[in-house]
Amino acid sequence: MLKFEHVSKRYPDAGEALSDVCFHLYRGEMAFLTGRSGAGKSTLLKLIAMMEQCNRGVITLDNQNISRISDWRIPYIRRHLGLIFQDYKLLNDRTVFDNVALPLIVSGVNHQEISRRVRAALDKVKLLSKERKYPLALSGGEQQRVGIARAIVNKPKLILADEPTGNLDPDLSAEIMYMFEEFKQVGVTILIATHDIELINSLGHRVLTLHKGHLVAS
Ligand code: ADP
Ligand code: ADP
Repeated sequence: MLKFEHVSKRYPDAGEALSDVCFHLYRGEMAFLTGRSGAGKSTLLKLIAMMEQCNRGVITLDNQNISRISDWRIPYIRRHLGLIFQDYKLLNDRTVFDNVALPLIVSGVNHQEISRRVRAALDKVKLLSKERKYPLALSGGEQQRVGIARAIVNKPKLILADEPTGNLDPDLSAEIMYMFEEFKQVGVTILIATHDIELINSLGHRVLTLHKGHLVAS
């Protein structure tokens, strides 16, 4: 599903953020990406999300080389990615329904289909009853579930989550992880960047560890 071959990334006027990184994830695999602050986790996710370009190496996503890709193709490929962030990145002046609908509107999906798919996504994260609420009226755990609904509404093949439980207590974190496990069951590949060693150890999935831009354990 996802393959990194000798990938390096250097930001202008900075040292190497990633050095010669190689790994692959199979379809339906769930893995954690860990390492200290500054180790390169966000950079690795940004390369997959095509928000940054690598300087060397090849990144293959679903049999497409995304490491040297024309700008106009990026939005099309990005539709197959679900992105989840620590700070949720919800639009606070839009309802829960409208937040989740956004990726479908961008993709040009028709009205009826939008209603159907947004409700299906909200049902999966158990937030159907809150569709008319605004994000700030929800708890942190609920806001993250809205973020997850938005990430899955386009039925992505790969979900990338950057510290998804960073602002949540252990019970809520476990609930979010349980949802990821359910997506994995239906063949979605999931890569989760986190510092939370307890969470990682409690689940027993594969762990990719970065240390100063190098992948040191997989
Ligand atoms: P992590 O997510 O593990 O904390 P990052 O990927 O954010 O690590 O950062 C890896 C390294 O790249 C760090 O040394 C960081 O300072 C550097 N870096 C990240 N983003 C930029 C940027 N936009 N410009 C310059 N350096 C950056
Ligand atoms: P820094 O110089 O940034 O403080 P260190 O070299 O002290 O980094 O290492 C920071 C952490 O990373 C330590 O907890 C150490 O155990 C771990 N670490 C260092 N080198 C490796 C490695 N090759 N493989 C796995 N973990 C490592």
